[in-house]
Amino acid sequence: MHKKCPVCATKIVGRADKKFCSDYCRNAYNNQLNKDSKNLIRNINNLLRKNYRILTELNPKNKIKTTRTKLIAKGFDFQHFTSTYTTKTGNTYYFIYDQGYLPLENDFYAIVKRD
Ligand SMILES: [Zn+2]
Repeated sequence: MHKKCPVCATKIVGRADKKFCSDYCRNAYNNQLNKDSKNLIRNINNLLRKNYRILTELNPKNKIKTTRTKLIAKGFDFQHFTSTYTTKTGNTYYFIYDQGYLPLENDFYAIVKRD
């Protein structure tokens, strides 16, 4: 049974564990994989950077109260943060680097900067 090269579909001749027809195709395949994961990382980094910029704009000092509506209007993405912190009383802060937010009642959010 002949395997086919996943890049160019040429039949692979040679060792049974050979995966690509040539060094060229192996490199092309690996470069594409790297490119995909680099794009993924870059996109998430961009989202984090945007979130961080929004929080810093809203919270130039160390603590402020804002609303979900305001955050969403600025394009804030609640899915992306770098860490969480849960207090003894069970409140969870979501941090993007040193800027964090805490969901409060109704539409409100507290934004705090970590020392
Ligand atoms: Zn090939």
